[in-house]
Amino acid sequence: MADFKRKYDAQPWTKDFAQDFAEVERVQSINSIIPKDAHTILDAGCGNGFFINFLKQKGSYTKLTGLDYSEEALKHVQTDKIQGDVTALPFADNSFDLVTCLEVLEHLPQEDLEKGISELQRVSKKYILITVPNNENLQHNLRMCPNCYCCFNTNFHVNSFDETKLKNLFPQLQLIKLEKIGSYYKKYHLFWPFYAIYINWQKANLPKIAICPQCGYQNKKVIKNSQRLEKFSTKKISPIKFLIKFIIPGSRQRRWIMALYKK
Ligand SMILES: [Zn+2]
Repeated sequence: MADFKRKYDAQPWTKDFAQDFAEVERVQSINSIIPKDAHTILDAGCGNGFFINFLKQKGSYTKLTGLDYSEEALKHVQTDKIQGDVTALPFADNSFDLVTCLEVLEHLPQEDLEKGISELQRVSKKYILITVPNNENLQHNLRMCPNCYCCFNTNFHVNSFDETKLKNLFPQLQLIKLEKIGSYYKKYHLFWPFYAIYINWQKANLPKIAICPQCGYQNKKVIKNSQRLEKFSTKKISPIKFLIKFIIPGSRQRRWIMALYKK
């Protein structure tokens, strides 16, 4: 497991979220509900700093801090930064007006999730802001490692959250906002035979960033792809892909849930 974590964290982390309109929309939604009296902010699990760097550009805060486990990711963070783990935050109690934890909790196994939740609560002075994927079907991205046959979610998501779970996440805090955000995505129900073929084809191929959490397997094609990630990520969204998304009907669901809690 340690080897996997090293490999995962040592990835280039060069994905430029600013090229993805859904991610930009997500960050704008989060930014729009930051309380006016939040002057010091910690982004716990900040990744390559897309959100905290955005705050640095758009807002005037007294102190912005990004924390992530990956030193490679932190290289891209333009604010104060510190290497650390969400389950053991290296800060005193009540250190920040607002603690954000965005797209992190779905990655934490149960024990870490409990520790993480209590740590966020401990270092926050006033508010906690969480975003997680909305009611994710964890089975969708389940793949089998061709080397050790371990099954894993290729985004390394191990928890799925809905509104009820978020309402009960911090029982001692007051939930002041709960909102589903992000563009709708479609499930292609009417075209399910083609979708089924596509899913099965996908299942036979490990996607670009997949690393087996049990044995660390990552095929050569994948490594080559991750080296090309920088070039790949700066590509604009293909107009054809965009058109297909809107033409094909299906059920609609918001991509993320956002929750703001008050201490
Ligand atoms: Zn494996």
